[in-house]
Amino acid sequence: MNFKDLNIIPPILEGLNKANYTSPTPIQEQAIPAVLAGRDLLGCAQTGTGKTAAFSVPIIQLLSEKASGPKPGRRIRSLILTPTRELAIQISDNIKTYSRYTDIRCSAIVGGVSQKVQERALNQGADIIIATPGRLIDLVNQKRIDLSFIEILVLDEADRMLDMGFIHDVKRIISKMPSKKQTLFFSATMPPEITKMVKTLLVDPVKVEI
Ligand code: AMP
Repeated sequence: MNFKDLNIIPPILEGLNKANYTSPTPIQEQAIPAVLAGRDLLGCAQTGTGKTAAFSVPIIQLLSEKASGPKPGRRIRSLILTPTRELAIQISDNIKTYSRYTDIRCSAIVGGVSQKVQERALNQGADIIIATPGRLIDLVNQKRIDLSFIEILVLDEADRMLDMGFIHDVKRIISKMPSKKQTLFFSATMPPEITKMVKTLLVDPVKVEI
């Protein structure tokens, strides 16, 4: 099996080639067709399995199939929430590689970095943002970020976000988005609070376990 067999479009194949990915990992084989088909996803997978490309490659593809607006003032159509800034930056770097030959732009929104710099990046236009909950909620409260055009939401390492006390922020962030959207939910463990969130957020999800 290769990425072409998963119906990945040529500009993304080129980006994957650049990253030296020759064939999809098991989680990518399972997740990519489901996400491309518009399904919600529940993934029980650890980092190191190729999880990042499993959700971000089909997101880049879905977003590039629909026209984006003009670059400045472009609307944010996908949000990826992660527990730590290191993870957010790593995901953002990966997405930049995969989307290099497409028109899709992404930006990381994390604490500990000047808000001005991040706002400047946002003003240039981003289709995808990768964020930690704390900094994102600040920008949403200041009305600097509008989440009302989100089409695809990813919750990455949801159990860690719960452990780190972010669950309230995560719920507030979700309340600012349209209820009709595609949701991809990843958690290594399924404590009761996470199971409850899964039930309220996901509609008939495809389950992938690695
Ligand atoms: P992740 O679980 O997304 O953090 O990925 C773990 C590592 O595997 C990262 O260094 C990725 O760049 C790499 N990786 C992910 N998918 C593939 C693939 N299909 N082929 C080769 N390496 C990959």
